[in-house]
Amino acid sequence: MEEQRLEENRVLRERLDRLLKEARRNEQTQSTFDDFSLSVVAAQGPKELFQLLLEEQKKFRIDEIRLCLVDRYHEVERLLTESYQHSYPGLSFIDTETCNLLTADIPDYPILGSRILSKYQWLISVEETGKYKSAAMLPLKRGSETIGIQLLLSEDENRYTKDYGTTFLRKLAAMTAISIENCINRQRILALGYQDGLTNAYNRRYFDEHLKHEIDRCVRNKTDLVCLFIDVDFFKRINDNYGHQVGDAVLVRLVTLMQEQVRSSDIVARYGGEEFAIILPDTGIQIAHEIAERIRSRVASQKLIINDNTLHTTISIGLASLSQLKYQAGIQTKAQRQKATDNLDQLLLQKADEALYQAKQTGRNQVVIKKKAS
Ligand code: GH3
Ligand code: MG
Ligand code: MG
Repeated sequence: MEEQRLEENRVLRERLDRLLKEARRNEQTQSTFDDFSLSVVAAQGPKELFQLLLEEQKKFRIDEIRLCLVDRYHEVERLLTESYQHSYPGLSFIDTETCNLLTADIPDYPILGSRILSKYQWLISVEETGKYKSAAMLPLKRGSETIGIQLLLSEDENRYTKDYGTTFLRKLAAMTAISIENCINRQRILALGYQDGLTNAYNRRYFDEHLKHEIDRCVRNKTDLVCLFIDVDFFKRINDNYGHQVGDAVLVRLVTLMQEQVRSSDIVARYGGEEFAIILPDTGIQIAHEIAERIRSRVASQKLIINDNTLHTTISIGLASLSQLKYQAGIQTKAQRQKATDNLDQLLLQKADEALYQAKQTGRNQVVIKKKAS
């Protein structure tokens, strides 16, 4: 009898130990999840947010994560990735139409299992076919609107099954959606402060800040950078002959023409009035000259049709490159580098402006490189 009681006690104690251990483990998981949630909500900018959502999150036994965001007006991608010139593996964007086709009948709650792998196959590359055995699809919703979906992939077929509780994943999806929406809004506000209201080109404030930053980066990486200064020829005549509104429309068209000729990482800015500036980082003077010439000839040959008026215009371009400026090479410390690059932006702008002046003085509709180093 006594022996039987002891055995029962032992079994009970073991069970209690197991339960306690499990409770502690759950508590630990909950606390790790709470910490993770807090850092997602507090993320400073897209880079940090996507690092958390697409990488850090894998610590919750997730083999791969895909995030697909709806880009209704083709602005979200630009807002979230362009200013950082950064792409995140696992992150993609779809427009509303594609979204309607691909995510029709998307529920308000997460769906789990292996069947959704074929449903969301378009988020998995061909090389990965068969690699993942189960998945969880988290709808990212704000109100009734779907802002995206998140796919958690596992190579373990038992990781996400229909019986898996979804309360936790629901919270995760809601928190992710709020954080992404906040991030987009924050970027929108930032972008507004950096954009020219008429042409949507970057404004002078952004240009000045970005130029310093890019010069610093190019000096550090020992690559060249070229600055283009552009001024519309006889622009006053356009205003006088066709009116200010047509003049405005010409400026908008010119920005589009310029943007079409450069990489998306190059910065096209409205420097003021009818003057524009372009930064071509990691570019030598030869290539920059070809690009400038391409912009100039494209503008000169373009027929602009605005409010039944057909007009032509030309531009003059001045070029200056970082490598043409004399600055101390072989700079070691951050402070030394800072000191040496402090005035480089001003020097570069001055040189590009001088080249532009020369272009104006010697006939307009041409590209001039400031040759002499100073
Ligand atoms: P140049 O070839 O020497 O550059 O001749 P220009 O006529 O272009 O030069 P000027 O600097 O005399 O004239 C620039 C004109 O650009 C004057 C100004 O009214 C006009 N302008 C500046 N900003 C805007 C704008 O936002 N919209 C319009 N429509 N015109 C503008
Ligand atoms: Mg001018
Ligand atoms: Mg002008």
